[in-house]
Amino acid sequence: MPSLTFLGAAGTVTGSKHLLDLGNQLILVDGGLFQGLKELRERNWRPLPIAASAIHALVLTHAHLDHCGYIPRLVAQGFRGRVFCTPGTQDLCTLVLPDSAKIQEEDARDANKQGYTKHKPALPLYTSDDAARALTLLQPVGYYRPVPIGSGGVTVEFMPAGHLLGSAYARVTIPGGRTILFGGDLGRYGRPVLPDPAPVDGADVLLVESTYGDRQHVADDGGARLAEIVTDTAARGGKLIVPAFAIGRVEEVLYWLKQLEDARRIPVLPVFVDSPMAGRGLQFYANRIDELDPEIRPLARGVKAFATTRLTVIASPQQSMEVTASRQPSIVIASSGMATGGRVIHHLEATLPSPKNTVMFVGYQSEGTRGRQLCDGAKSVRLKGHDIPVAARIERIDSMSAHADAGEILRWLSGFKKPPSMTHLVHGETTALEALRTRIQNELRWPVHIAAYEERVDV
Ligand SMILES: [Zn+2]
Repeated sequence: MPSLTFLGAAGTVTGSKHLLDLGNQLILVDGGLFQGLKELRERNWRPLPIAASAIHALVLTHAHLDHCGYIPRLVAQGFRGRVFCTPGTQDLCTLVLPDSAKIQEEDARDANKQGYTKHKPALPLYTSDDAARALTLLQPVGYYRPVPIGSGGVTVEFMPAGHLLGSAYARVTIPGGRTILFGGDLGRYGRPVLPDPAPVDGADVLLVESTYGDRQHVADDGGARLAEIVTDTAARGGKLIVPAFAIGRVEEVLYWLKQLEDARRIPVLPVFVDSPMAGRGLQFYANRIDELDPEIRPLARGVKAFATTRLTVIASPQQSMEVTASRQPSIVIASSGMATGGRVIHHLEATLPSPKNTVMFVGYQSEGTRGRQLCDGAKSVRLKGHDIPVAARIERIDSMSAHADAGEILRWLSGFKKPPSMTHLVHGETTALEALRTRIQNELRWPVHIAAYEERVDV
């Protein structure tokens, strides 16, 4: 009997890894990093229940680290199979995997240098070499093209999920013809930049994310809240810091800033994208304009669709330091999105102590991250081993989320012609999972199961 083991994103929103055991072959769907709480991050260091070398192939739904960031670790442990993904995901992986390796290496180096580690010496989870080797295993496959990924007629077909450039759900057909739809992360309806999630009419077994399973996003306000935050911060003579993952959210934030600037609803401020990879990410978005929302296509002439009047994409650490030190009113977009690492840490250290400044979160903030602490009203946060007081205003804009809310998940599910024999809820925290289970049971009358970590189920 084929089985599925949830090795991550079960009861939590990170570490996506689902192991499909077909008896004679093992297929892993997503290879994501655990992020956030220490007890979760420690799972990245634990051995998997199977040898990495025993995994026949990997299927990757999209290039967010909580879905792809563990792949170099698998490679370091002997995985040599192919990683099937869309061409857009391949593009973005060439940015995020080497960057992740660099962060792992830098964190280990900093911890050793400053002595804030219990491990001597602190080691990186994986190296730049591991990330480079992982990239050589990527096998791009276009949307709606089922391809064989294993023996006995195992295939995968990708469909656009509208969550990130290249993002997809993966429909895996196993010997005997049963289909398992791995939902990856589900995007949103009617948003700029990315297309709506593609309708799906069926699967025998379904895995669906539940990040916002207990929430309804604030209705789109046409940028009104963002305009208010930018204008207020500028009036106080402060800086607006936007922690954002370098790819995806950056495009949406820039899109809105440009709209507001063009409509003269915000002052024209210097906008810094402080990320060496964000510039290249923008280029990848521009190159694949046909995969983006139809609304943005007529606007798009290369990267101009995202270019505010005074936009600077910062490449060098030197320039980053200058912007960090400057007191000039400006907007700085820097990663990481949950303030767990990256250049945004320097900007937070410089701006959090002053009430003139604003830090605006635009994405989901997992438990245990600095982003969550700040959103929850922390009076100080620990940065680089020091407690930094929080006097800056902390704002969050949920409408820019890249994840479907409960209503949008239900809307997507309602496209199914017949219920899956089982729907497994993954990628959510407890309250979201339970709320979504109740809604699916009540409104669709489908059998639903909340996946547990390391649980094995028949498919
Ligand atoms: Zn994602």
